[in-house]
Amino acid sequence: MFSINNVNFKGKKTLIRVDFNVPLNDKRQVTDDTRIRESIPTITKVLNDGGTIILMSHLGRPKGYQPDYSLEPIVPVLSKLLGRNIIFTPDLFGPKTFEVCGKMKACEVALMENLRFYPGEEAGDEKFAKELSLLADIYINDAFATSHRNHASVSTIAKFFKGKCYFGFLLENEIENLDRVLFSAEHPFTAIIGGAKISTKIGVIKNLLNKVDNLIIGGGMSFTFMEALGGKVGKSIVEHDKIDLAKNIMQEVMLKGINLYLPTDAVIANGFSNEADFTTVTSENITDGWMGLDIGPKTCRRFAEIINHSQTILWNGPLGVFEMENFRHGTKSVAIAVASATISGSFSLIGGGDTVAALNQFNLADHISYVSTGGGAMLEYLEGKDLPGISAIRRPHTSEHAAKEK
Ligand code: AMP
Repeated sequence: MFSINNVNFKGKKTLIRVDFNVPLNDKRQVTDDTRIRESIPTITKVLNDGGTIILMSHLGRPKGYQPDYSLEPIVPVLSKLLGRNIIFTPDLFGPKTFEVCGKMKACEVALMENLRFYPGEEAGDEKFAKELSLLADIYINDAFATSHRNHASVSTIAKFFKGKCYFGFLLENEIENLDRVLFSAEHPFTAIIGGAKISTKIGVIKNLLNKVDNLIIGGGMSFTFMEALGGKVGKSIVEHDKIDLAKNIMQEVMLKGINLYLPTDAVIANGFSNEADFTTVTSENITDGWMGLDIGPKTCRRFAEIINHSQTILWNGPLGVFEMENFRHGTKSVAIAVASATISGSFSLIGGGDTVAALNQFNLADHISYVSTGGGAMLEYLEGKDLPGISAIRRPHTSEHAAKEK
């Protein structure tokens, strides 16, 4: 119903919210074009139909107009990927932009300047959204990674496209794959949750307790569980105010009959550095003054065994400080186990900036069923929350939403 597959864009001006929030080097060149490449299928569909495209995005978190946050460096990259000229509109509004957009012909593509140069964007301002909407006939949201934001171009704007707002292919794919994990996972279903802190993952863990058979906890957050169990964690990262929370989770896991797997051995170091001395000990007996920076070899083997016997695998958060070579092994061994289970027919979904960066570092992304483009957005979706950018399109259109006067 909201798929662009059901629409013919011939002769239509289409406003597409993309996420071109890409990394740039000090020469302001794009260093990773993944997010730009991911927008190509939706753009191509509209162009093949004979539509006209106006792209809008944010880049970074500028405070008002700051030239360093201009989207202009995206133009040559997008132009090369699409094999066509891109019109760049240096300001969003005003007669110049309206004139340029008004004169655009079929199959032309324009990119507007950074939406966040205007305070109305992050404020979700109605007036700002309405002005944007006046540029086009149809609106598509293809910016999954920004869909948890209640921003003007992400959610407010949909009100002004009654019956004419759609999900792009990227957003549709994200919903389909995340829903597969949340609502129709084949069992055994294993969730692997790592990363630095429980506090950022608690919502996801709680929602998953109603769905998974196995819960694997690794990374820095496992030490809060270890401390809750009465173990000695030395100087490892622990959230002291979350110890009761860890106890509650362990209790709920028992009541629900879920298998909880915590690390049994740890690679510990006498400093948070790749140059620090390191050794392996049992997880509940970390030497005073030392810190756990990775899971140990026994844990790697145990986790791999669970993963290999799973039909559905969801993974967010590294198992150790993978940025340092000496503490990368645990994350790498889990990545290999997930990839090999996928090759044997399991469904795997991985997301989160650090986890995807690790996967790319190990060249394993091609062996995962689905790699999500969302960090915060994916976590909120997995928590079971409504994302403003998704519900705005699905929401039934009331007469109040039909306020657009063109
Ligand atoms: P998150 O954003 O919560 O997924 O956390 C990712 C970060 O957790 C990465 O930068 C890892 O280096 C870090 N991390 C993973 N394991 C540990 C650990 N044992 N101690 C400290 N930091 C860790």
